[in-house]
Amino acid sequence: MRIGLGIDVHPYATERPLILCGITLSNHGGLGGHSDGDVCLHALMDAILGAVGEEDIGVLFPATEERKGSSSLVMLEQVAEMVAKTGLTLLTADIALVMETPKIAPYRVQMRTKLQSYFPLAALHIKATTCEGLGFIGRGEGVAALAVALVGPP
Ligand code: MG
Repeated sequence: MRIGLGIDVHPYATERPLILCGITLSNHGGLGGHSDGDVCLHALMDAILGAVGEEDIGVLFPATEERKGSSSLVMLEQVAEMVAKTGLTLLTADIALVMETPKIAPYRVQMRTKLQSYFPLAALHIKATTCEGLGFIGRGEGVAALAVALVGPP
């Protein structure tokens, strides 16, 4: 079995919708970035890619004009295909979001269901915590996400 770690940070950019784990959270300003700013998926993909010994998403999916504003789910699908080609499968992924608002509890089931459609055999976990008002996250300037992924024979 192999383990990987991913981390990502994005600033808020209020003119966009907030998209986390491929789910659009209504009534919240979104995150900036070249793609859709899905900080959860970016951390998750880097964790999975690390576990299977691949390059990170910055290398595999460079910020081209074509990819501007694109859904991170398109990248996730390609990452899922790369994992399948190794003969291994994603066994567990655990994502920790660090953000002040909104609460993600009402969206957690939807988020997990979305991820599960890409990794049907995996135990998937999504949790969130605040920064207790400290630093750039505490001031509501941005969001961080961390993820670990465990891959192994199916
Ligand atoms: Mg990112």
